[in-house]
Amino acid sequence: MKFLSTRGQTPPHSFTEAVATGLAPDGGLFVPETLPRLTPADLAALAPLPYPALTHALLSRFATDIPEGTLRALVEKSYTRFDHPDIAPIVRLDGTVSVLELFHGPTLAFKDFALQLLGNLYEYQCERHGGTLNVLGATSGDTGSAAIHGLLGKPRVNIFIAYPDGRTSALQERQMACTGAPNVHALAVEGTFDDAQRALKELFADQPFRVRHRLSAVNSINIARILAQCAYYLHAWLRLPEAERGATEFVVPTGNFGNVLAGWLLQKMGVPIRGFRVATNQNDILHRLFTTGDYRVGEVRPSLAPSMDIQVSSNFERYLYYTLGGDTARVREIMETFARTGRYRFEHFDPDTLRSSRCDDAEIPVLIRETYRRHGYIADPHTACAFKDLSKDGPSLILATAHPAKFPETIRDAIGLTPTHPSLEALKQRPLVRQRVPATAAAIRARIEAAA
Ligand SMILES: *Cc1c(COP(=O)(O)O)cnc(C)c1O
Repeated sequence: MKFLSTRGQTPPHSFTEAVATGLAPDGGLFVPETLPRLTPADLAALAPLPYPALTHALLSRFATDIPEGTLRALVEKSYTRFDHPDIAPIVRLDGTVSVLELFHGPTLAFKDFALQLLGNLYEYQCERHGGTLNVLGATSGDTGSAAIHGLLGKPRVNIFIAYPDGRTSALQERQMACTGAPNVHALAVEGTFDDAQRALKELFADQPFRVRHRLSAVNSINIARILAQCAYYLHAWLRLPEAERGATEFVVPTGNFGNVLAGWLLQKMGVPIRGFRVATNQNDILHRLFTTGDYRVGEVRPSLAPSMDIQVSSNFERYLYYTLGGDTARVREIMETFARTGRYRFEHFDPDTLRSSRCDDAEIPVLIRETYRRHGYIADPHTACAFKDLSKDGPSLILATAHPAKFPETIRDAIGLTPTHPSLEALKQRPLVRQRVPATAAAIRARIEAAA
């Protein structure tokens, strides 16, 4: 299987090349050249498989340049640090509403599903080619900690995560800075998230430095992340009662559009999922697009669901590519217009099987409270957004993207209880090892050189 760019001006890449490259050189995103077809017979054969075996069966159709046994071992290893035997369990709240819990991984957020695997893929590449890799990322929270825990203790990979000092939650900082692993560098940058990102961009632009230290970026556009996430949609769909499989709407708290895209691609592979709801918070560029056809960037407004505080959803480009029938010239034109003007107006925007909802900060505590009162279930602030506008025509499966204990203040304010989790309690006992750095490329460069 080869991987092509959504903008059509990059030669085909193998799976491992596309994973190592991240962003395609023409500025587009990698997509598989074809989507495999999962027939009803395939689905019946996949149904009894436990989570890791199911993920392997799906990925083996894409990662065709990794030997079968190696891929199986990489996938198996990626799901050993989850604290629930089902990996992605379904909790039924009543006759029509169920929750797919995606927060049983090491950092208690759904990003672990992709980043545990990506960490192992990076390590595999280092073993194959020799040398050390330096993985860099800027984060305002969840992605940084999930990336760190994906690479924790891997001898050939150093990870540097820059975050704005004093602006992540205390628990998020502890997840990044209390690992005790020598290959993890939590950099508390004296500035904002944008300052941290700018410093990293400058480092990546320095080609000789980038090559000498084999820099690689953590971001949400890696194709391996999307494909890894397809697996929990399949796992969940196969575990729904047969009568509900074709009737259930999957509801996805959305920021960068990676999560919902994975489900939608699985549907395109032949799994008869009824449809998806893109649940946004007050940063609602996607909701505005779905309801008006106007794709228009706005200011990011910090919310109670911070991992969805995104205005431009990078993975949306992959969805465009498919809905435009693979017309890469159109994708290029739309993305270039949008980059230049901050806006694109679609004459006829076809949402396919997606719809959307928007939940502002005043509604989040209300939804947490109502869900707790009605079902005795505590939803984290991101998941709470999905409880708005539930379908009236059939059952809903809500993807729970984070454990409520990651957001103790918001939950306490909503229901007067403070959720806890043993792994977060344990973190509070450990020493914080962080490096304060000025928000400059030179300061971060010095840290990378010192670790080499
Ligand atoms: C990253 C994140 C999201 C948004 O997911 P996307 O794939 O970016 O749409 C939602 N909830 C939580 C808790 C997250 O960490």
